[in-house]
Amino acid sequence: MLTNIQTISVGGADGGGGSGGERGSGRIEARGIGPAGTEIFSLDLPAVIAVHEGGVDPRYPSITGRMKAKKAQVVEYDAPRPRHGQSPDSARTSGGEGEFGDHPRRGARSGSRPGRCARRDRSDPAMTLVFVETDPAGEVTLTSAEAITFARSQLLPDGGAATSREVSGPPSGSTEGVVIGPLSDSAVDVLGRLGVSVIHHLEHPDLAEYSAAAWAQAIVDVAPESGTLLASGTPRGMELMAHAAVRTGARMAANVIAADDDGLLRQVHGGTAFERVRLDGDLQVLTIAGHAYTPEETSPITPEIIAYDLTVAEADLATRVQRTEVEAADDAAGLTSAKAVVGAGRGVGSENGFAEVLELVDHLGGALGVSRVVTGLGWRPHAEQVGQTGSRISPDVYIACGISGAIQHMAGIEGAKTLVAINTDAESTMVQRADYAIIGDLHEVVGAVNEEIVRRRG
Ligand SMILES: Cc1cc2nc3c(=O)[nH]c(=O)nc-3n(C[C@H](O)[C@H](O)[C@H](O)COP(=O)(O)OP(=O)(O)OC[C@H]3O[C@@H](n4cnc5c(N)ncnc54)[C@H](O)[C@@H]3O)c2cc1C
Repeated sequence: MLTNIQTISVGGADGGGGSGGERGSGRIEARGIGPAGTEIFSLDLPAVIAVHEGGVDPRYPSITGRMKAKKAQVVEYDAPRPRHGQSPDSARTSGGEGEFGDHPRRGARSGSRPGRCARRDRSDPAMTLVFVETDPAGEVTLTSAEAITFARSQLLPDGGAATSREVSGPPSGSTEGVVIGPLSDSAVDVLGRLGVSVIHHLEHPDLAEYSAAAWAQAIVDVAPESGTLLASGTPRGMELMAHAAVRTGARMAANVIAADDDGLLRQVHGGTAFERVRLDGDLQVLTIAGHAYTPEETSPITPEIIAYDLTVAEADLATRVQRTEVEAADDAAGLTSAKAVVGAGRGVGSENGFAEVLELVDHLGGALGVSRVVTGLGWRPHAEQVGQTGSRISPDVYIACGISGAIQHMAGIEGAKTLVAINTDAESTMVQRADYAIIGDLHEVVGAVNEEIVRRRG
């Protein structure tokens, strides 16, 4: 199974499958977005693939296609039954078929096992384990720092009641982290300052390239049997937590923004609506919506580091990254960590209309973020897109130039501390939502701002 895929080509590297092949057989190459760039997978069919939201623009059928569809035979089915006569609940804990079902579950694991240290008590009901993502330089990502802050402030006693405690016992626990791959000194330092008491460090040649199934199983092997397992709501965090929930039989909630006595509050529909959920069971699995929290340090501690001797099941490596193309990732990483982002929308006019905004980006030492119209028209790369289907950013200042403020764009800038709009339309949503607005042609306004910056800096 793969998620977050943008394109697939039938046949793949070694040319199997193809249009003439038997349906569901052969090989495909799939390309998806990873933290370090575009990740390329090669896998056998049949495969289950989830498409990256917004990665493909909808294409409506031609009139001929619609006429044909009207003549299509309608087949009615009874409600599907669980396989092998299992109830959905028993299916959840005792395994089905394929990638997940082939793998032993809790209590009968043959996956990773503790090595250079004694296994600790993993049934502490108040323990929260956070999957910590690191960037290509080995630094803890901003969104992981946010997720750890959530774990500390929302799920521990000093921050208020937590849903999981209602079902799992009184709070008394710790926030622990799990890191897969190299662990840098600076990551250990940052995790200590964020209040992570234990780092479970998982390193193995078979985990060097990302494989959702293998990584998820490794996380499951060190996860608490009761308590909370969580990650930030990045594509990777979502995918791993979904795999982990299936493997542990735990209930899962995605895009959580708060936990209190009434349950978990989570974002749905791209952040435009909220939903309250309660998870029962000993273990709850969560992802935390990006930029719902500002990372907060606490009194620094020196985390205990636990290393493991791992064995990785061959079956879990079936969908492993073959190679990564890194170009797009550098831009995206700069965008999500920039303190100042200058946004550019259709209002720039054309692909040649970015001169003033790019100069302003330079002056501010920030990053360029664009609307989907801009990437859709091919004026700028997708890596620069901000919004529901682009990056979610939390700069100190976001200067939106010629962007109307569509709901999908606003979903990506909720974390901006100060919002400045430059727009010809005083009634546009962006102007209405901005802290400061300048009504006028962006080329003139941004040009004048650049001149003033140059003049003041001498
Ligand atoms: C499933 C889905 C996902 C989506 N995901 C995203 C996403 O992630 N990010 C995203 O941005 N959009 C996304 N969209 C698209 C979104 O709905 C809007 O279409 C898009 O954000 C509009 O881009 P825009 O503001 O640049 O263009 P427009 O809406 O056309 O606005 C252009 C603005 O520029 C102003 N303007 C024009 N000329 C000038 C000038 N010379 N000077 C100053 N101002 C000027 C106009 O007044 C207007 O306000 C998504 C849509 C869908 C359906």
